[in-house]
Amino acid sequence: MPADMQNKETEAGREQSRSVSPYKAGFLGRCPSCGEGAFFKPMSLDIRDTCETCGFDLSKADPGDGAQVFVILIMGAIAALVGFILIGGMHMPPWAAMTIIFALILFGSIWMLRVFKATLVALQFHHDASEGKLTDEGGDDA
Ligand SMILES: [Zn+2]
Repeated sequence: MPADMQNKETEAGREQSRSVSPYKAGFLGRCPSCGEGAFFKPMSLDIRDTCETCGFDLSKADPGDGAQVFVILIMGAIAALVGFILIGGMHMPPWAAMTIIFALILFGSIWMLRVFKATLVALQFHHDASEGKLTDEGGDDA
């Protein structure tokens, strides 16, 4: 977290931010600071620059590729299981099963990406996660 962002946040603000559950905020796609404002731009997977409710700066939020990895692995397993059930268990024609699985993957992935992206960013804010920094204070052997 950059220094200017830390300076903007007061201790009271941090305490208020911590009172918001990162899992609840992530699941609902809400701001990790106030738990009220929308986290994503409308009809998009892009994160807003600021929260419209509390003005919290979301422009520095970067979940990286973390959410995509979770979604690929989880949706792949679910789609394979559903495929086995529809074709192997229910003897559905392959074209019908493929249509259902395609829709499941498309809408399930978009929904899961929103949940995982928002949850990962909310967890970063909740735990004050930031890049490691080198200090001049020296180590144990100094
Ligand atoms: Zn907010």
